[in-house]
Amino acid sequence: MRQQLASDNYAGLCPEALAALEQANQGHAPSYGQDRWTAEACDQFRALFETPCEVFFVFNGTAANALALASLCQSYHSIICHRHAHVETDECGAPEFFSHGAKLLLADGRDGKLDPASVEEIVTRRGDIHYPKPRVVSLTQATELGTVYTPAELQGIHQVARRHDLKLHLDGARFANAVAALGLPPRALTVECGMDVLCFGGSKNGLAVGEAVLFFDLAAAEEFAYRCKQAGQLASKMRFLAAQWLGLLKDGAWLRHAAHANHCAALLEEALRALPEVELMFPRQANAVFARLPEAVIAALRQRGWLFYTFIGVGGARLMCAWDTEETTVRAFVADVKAALRATR
Ligand SMILES: *Cc1c(COP(=O)(O)O)cnc(C)c1O
Repeated sequence: MRQQLASDNYAGLCPEALAALEQANQGHAPSYGQDRWTAEACDQFRALFETPCEVFFVFNGTAANALALASLCQSYHSIICHRHAHVETDECGAPEFFSHGAKLLLADGRDGKLDPASVEEIVTRRGDIHYPKPRVVSLTQATELGTVYTPAELQGIHQVARRHDLKLHLDGARFANAVAALGLPPRALTVECGMDVLCFGGSKNGLAVGEAVLFFDLAAAEEFAYRCKQAGQLASKMRFLAAQWLGLLKDGAWLRHAAHANHCAALLEEALRALPEVELMFPRQANAVFARLPEAVIAALRQRGWLFYTFIGVGGARLMCAWDTEETTVRAFVADVKAALRATR
């Protein structure tokens, strides 16, 4: 299949992760995470975040989020998230399922970002026993709408969380893209903003499979390994999840790949911005461009074989760049948009 702009999950395995898999594929090694690749990957994360943290490797983001959230709350608690949060819209109720009933309470905020006032309103709305007790705030960085929280915005949420004794969970399926966009050390967007748990996405940044769950709140990590096992998320051949991360973390490949994806999205944004019939829906801050296109143009693009989603967030075409997106792909897409626009005039 030609390159698409449908999802960063359409991309393959990056060469660094592939090489690391080859290297880990030597002889026998202890199973269930007792191998040296897993130990080293955990250490690399601690070095990257410049802090002690507990690290776990799971197969996908839904499991990472759902299990991390479940570890932060009891079944009678509630989790505050944005109404467009992946945990709400795209995880088939997994956070509620794995927490045995914790309720997601939906907050608002512009461009997919939680607004501290909206979080505060939900927390202070009720204080009685009939309301599921707010316990966690879940944020997504970069957001589902392709925007990025600044450290100041994260601090705003942190302050509300501190005031009301709430834990903070960060869905970082595209954390790398956010770090690349902001040009700040990872700890400035996590540890320093009070994050208790980060689900650090690997699949969308060039791994075959796998996300890392990082607990900065070490106490919350207690018994998390049991949760992973019970949920079918403990890899027996863990070395192959961990080794990919070693490849990605080595020499900053993760950041280079994310920066490249962001760069391609910036090119796409710039080209589409020049077309008066195309409306860019949100500020392009990471690797996604959301564009409202005339229906006829969408149909023409699909006719020409382009695949993309139009149901994510609030509609419009979501165009996503990946670690391997080629500039020629972006240019070919833009050329087809232009041709379709000419044909509809
Ligand atoms: C892709 C994604 C996930 C993880 O999805 P899986 O398909 O379960 O790996 C989580 N959160 C966000 C914001 C995502 O975009």
